[in-house]
Amino acid sequence: MLAIVRVCNPGVVHPGEERESDNITEVVHKPVVEVKKSPHRILGVHSYEACFPDLQEVQIVAARRWGVRPVKNREEAEHRKQELVYVGANPYFSIDRAMTQSIPYLVPRASNLLQQIGKNFIDSLYVKNVPLHRIIVSSVLRTEDDVSRLRRFNVNANEQSCHRFGTTFDITYIRFDPVHHADGSPCVYVSDAILKPVLSEVLRDLRQQGLCYIKHERKQSCFHITVR
Ligand SMILES: [Zn+2]
Repeated sequence: MLAIVRVCNPGVVHPGEERESDNITEVVHKPVVEVKKSPHRILGVHSYEACFPDLQEVQIVAARRWGVRPVKNREEAEHRKQELVYVGANPYFSIDRAMTQSIPYLVPRASNLLQQIGKNFIDSLYVKNVPLHRIIVSSVLRTEDDVSRLRRFNVNANEQSCHRFGTTFDITYIRFDPVHHADGSPCVYVSDAILKPVLSEVLRDLRQQGLCYIKHERKQSCFHITVR
């Protein structure tokens, strides 16, 4: 069981008010800053670029190693159940409703990783006393149909994209899905300025354990992740 730990911000005790007086010596109190270090503070990472640097040439090696051969379209994905897991419904993460250029299928190894990320994120919010949110997955498996459609609009749609192998997914860091309470009380929305650092801590730890490669994508506002 997780312990609920309150996030403590250093409290500042303001100096006592100085009275204007005639001949009484004024006593000026120094401000006292109470520093309470909680093990569950949100620290984030020191640099997104430095902590999540894994480029395409690094990720594609893992994608080829653990991935499937290209998938023609959604229909074919549904018939390849031995190789691919449907990740469209899971309590630990949400699939972006606007996701149109990929389908929610991953190889089991990557599906486990995604679930682990989603679970660790919720656990982490819980111990930091932040209202619970789910990560939102914005891109998953790109089929051959998706790739050729993308190529028509975007010159950069890479034919060798890791997303074709079922090993790779994107998690957006600008939107999160608040968890609905069972008692029907309203959702509490928390800014991505708080949630992104928490997600970063979770991802950094999993990357350091050698479980994945991660690139912090500025343009697409996501973490591009390939299972190792
Ligand atoms: Zn990506």
